[in-house]
Amino acid sequence: MMSHYAPPVQISRPDTLSKVWKISLIFGLLGIWGCRGPLQKVELEHAAMGTRFRIVSYHRDPQKVGRAALLAMEKIDRIEQACSDWNPDSEIRQLCRTAPSANPVSASGDLIEILSLAIEISRESAGAFDPTIGPLVRLWRRCQQAGRLPRPDELQRARRAMGIESIIIDVDAGTVQLLREGIGIDLGGIAKGYATDAALKVMEAQGIEHTLIDGGGDISLGVPPPGRGGWRLELEPNGIGGGSSSEGGIRVIFDDRGAVATSGDASRFVEIDGKRYSHILDPATGWGVPGPHAVTVHAAEGAIADALATAISVLEVEQAKSLLDSFPGSSALLFDPAGGPPRVLGEFPGMTNH
Ligand code: ADP
Ligand code: MG
Repeated sequence: MMSHYAPPVQISRPDTLSKVWKISLIFGLLGIWGCRGPLQKVELEHAAMGTRFRIVSYHRDPQKVGRAALLAMEKIDRIEQACSDWNPDSEIRQLCRTAPSANPVSASGDLIEILSLAIEISRESAGAFDPTIGPLVRLWRRCQQAGRLPRPDELQRARRAMGIESIIIDVDAGTVQLLREGIGIDLGGIAKGYATDAALKVMEAQGIEHTLIDGGGDISLGVPPPGRGGWRLELEPNGIGGGSSSEGGIRVIFDDRGAVATSGDASRFVEIDGKRYSHILDPATGWGVPGPHAVTVHAAEGAIADALATAISVLEVEQAKSLLDSFPGSSALLFDPAGGPPRVLGEFPGMTNH
């Protein structure tokens, strides 16, 4: 969905620790003069959360980048273990099995933080973003397999199990209590943005500040590398809006830290009876957002950009504007299914051609 238009210098795929020494060898050779030489662009990939994460860093010592990147990848894996809806042993799936619970249950710091953010954005978006959407998501998955639309009674039943008011979080005690039976927490609309931010923080803590983390379209940006004018990205939601510039996408240059996230149905939708429904669902009705649609959000933090992009996919334009207003510094591009220029909400930074 999004790509850099600067060619990478180095590509390696350290998916497992067993590959560490291989990376070290490559970086060792580079590192001989790299330590004191100019900034090197180092690019690494890691498969997680159903996508490929890319870590792009500019640093004099590629070996140091490799070591930091392994820690960042471990962090991404820990977040996946906390949040995955696909893994029945994930922390969130285990937590949901305690519902309805008479007592608070201990939860990891990441899960507490991501749930707290999800609830905040749910409130600010008047429920357009809803982390308790799990029962509806499962219903649609079942219907997709059966090649049919959900029935009104099925939609109603799934929606009855939803509601953030049945999640009680005690941040100081590090606990979560789920009051409602059948609650299904789905963090698919926020977890990747949270993970790219967390991975960026790991890199920065290791002294690798010029880093970009791309989690398949959810991108966290560190301090841009000096002398390059900023991070150069091409926003290109596949199959929608892409005809708006001569090269097919929209080029942006971000000259500051921040995050961008794109939500759309380009690769994930259901087509039933000739109509296209997104994997993003409207909690108010239970229906999939009609496609094709795509929105890109820029915000201060990855989790916020990710969740706002999901929420804005559901909202009308005026509602989207007031949601963006409640997150200072956030803005959005609404892509035009007909291929015209995107509609800009707020001050989207760094646009070079639209
Ligand atoms: P992608 O995962 O394709 O990047 P999103 O970030 O928009 O796209 O996340 C979509 C996922 O979020 C869905 O697959 C589902 O798990 C979940 N979801 C769907 N609708 C909503 C909603 N209204 N609020 C919160 N989460 C949602
Ligand atoms: Mg999202």
